[in-house]
Amino acid sequence: MKIERPGSAIDADVVVVGAGLAGLSVASKLAACGRRCILVEAQARAGGRILSVTGPRGSYLEAGAGFFNADMANIIELVQRAGLKTQRGVLDGAQTVLVDLHQPKLREANLSSLLDWESLLEHRISKGMSLHELLDRALSGAEDVRTVQSMMTELMSQEPTRLSAAATLELTRHIPSDRSDMELRADGPLGQVIQYLASHLTEPPRFNWPVQRISIEGDVVVVANNARSLRARTVVLAVPPTAARRIVLPDSVARLAHSALNSFIAGAIVKINATVASPGASAPESAAGRHVVCLDPPGLVAIETALFRDNERSFIIFAGGQIARDLSRLGETEQTAFTRKLLRVAYALSDTDLLEVMTTAWIDDPWTGGGYNAYIGRGREVNAAAQLRTIDGPVIFACSEIADHFPGYMEGAIHAGHQAADAVLATLDGHVGK
Ligand SMILES: Cc1cc2nc3c(=O)[nH]c(=O)nc-3n(C[C@H](O)[C@H](O)[C@H](O)COP(=O)(O)OP(=O)(O)OC[C@H]3O[C@@H](n4cnc5c(N)ncnc54)[C@H](O)[C@@H]3O)c2cc1C
Repeated sequence: MKIERPGSAIDADVVVVGAGLAGLSVASKLAACGRRCILVEAQARAGGRILSVTGPRGSYLEAGAGFFNADMANIIELVQRAGLKTQRGVLDGAQTVLVDLHQPKLREANLSSLLDWESLLEHRISKGMSLHELLDRALSGAEDVRTVQSMMTELMSQEPTRLSAAATLELTRHIPSDRSDMELRADGPLGQVIQYLASHLTEPPRFNWPVQRISIEGDVVVVANNARSLRARTVVLAVPPTAARRIVLPDSVARLAHSALNSFIAGAIVKINATVASPGASAPESAAGRHVVCLDPPGLVAIETALFRDNERSFIIFAGGQIARDLSRLGETEQTAFTRKLLRVAYALSDTDLLEVMTTAWIDDPWTGGGYNAYIGRGREVNAAAQLRTIDGPVIFACSEIADHFPGYMEGAIHAGHQAADAVLATLDGHVGK
């Protein structure tokens, strides 16, 4: 292990931990303000839960985040600054169908009448109530309950029985949009956005640099793992709560953050990108698609994207909670067979139509957690996100989970990053003249 320099010599004004969208947003804003910032990342790549990959047939696919909507101004601006354009995300609007993979019959459903968050707010909700109990109480009709439970299992990447009803409603208060969150996508890989941000730092991110502990020595913060350490005035922990709680924090910070960090529980999500042959397929702007919700197994949804290539259509299947865990344990051949079956049942596509399938599991990952995001568990701190947001001083938290604007989305990660950068600037300015 390298020994830190003696005295209070520092390596940078700020060390940012985590090169996901939140960390890159902090670091690029601080760089623009002329602060020396070192960004360290546990993995060998930047982007975190944004992961553009080359699919089996050579074109790019988004294995992680991919969509946004017209109310998400920060991600739209970033996509455009990175040289990409926005385009329609998915074909939706026409029809929602319910499927049961064990009894392959389709049924139409009217989703818009099912889930009304405003009316859920009118229910009396105790701290220990699960999201499952709230939905059960608020909805009538066994099939409506099963439909919404299935959708929520996918949306929250885990079974509503595990989640806090009050915290989920609190989350929805910070999502100021009625638009579909899949309204738009970029016309090229989001990896380009990550590269754009990384190219605007004071120095390139330092990869394979997992942070294990943070300590405070006088007015210096030391960020370390077993091999290396860095000294700075402030540190931004731009990692999900499930990753932050694996880092040993200074006592003064741990006291404030411990219970909030432990309130988040990791979920499980599997994203399947599938391309099928479709002779004559074209992309009229008005084309409408079929939104598929699976009742059995629950937690499975499928959509058709608006990304058309000649004679091809593309689909995305999301599996959350137990079905995600089950799918991730299957081999590639069985996963492909599952995809074929779902596309056959839900879209009447023949087995031979499938040109390409890519399955990515986000489960039990030491760095990004699991699921789209971590959410607050039943009976835990309802205001855990707000508690982490308001911690200031030498250690500041930032990630999509704790954003007060579009939490759980790329938009939230950017927003949290910008707010953390402002907090860092205020802290650093407090040092002036000291
Ligand atoms: C499959 C999937 C699909 C999604 N789809 C969408 C979508 O369509 N639209 C949308 O808006 N959002 C979507 N999301 C959510 C979105 O991706 C995330 O909310 C957002 O990207 C999180 O950004 P972040 O910077 O907060 O965290 P992350 O992206 O998780 O970044 C955290 C970074 O910190 C690093 N790290 C962790 N621990 C340490 C440590 N100890 N030391 C150093 N580095 C560490 C990690 O390696 C990672 O790079 C999706 C997520 C997934 C998984």
